[in-house]
Amino acid sequence: MPLSKELLEILACPQCKQGIVLDETRNLLVCPQCQLGYPIRDDIPVMLIPEAVDLRKGEK
Ligand SMILES: [Zn+2]
Repeated sequence: MPLSKELLEILACPQCKQGIVLDETRNLLVCPQCQLGYPIRDDIPVMLIPEAVDLRKGEK
């Protein structure tokens, strides 16, 4: 996983401005507040709300 801890610490959820956590299994940067997962494409975090996965969906 090439994403560094330093990078993770400066990244924030664009919706709530809180910190995000790395979900290595799903290759997502997860905002626990919003339950959104931001994808990582070509090792670049895509911190865009329209691109985010709603983690509450599919948990039925
Ligand atoms: Zn958020």
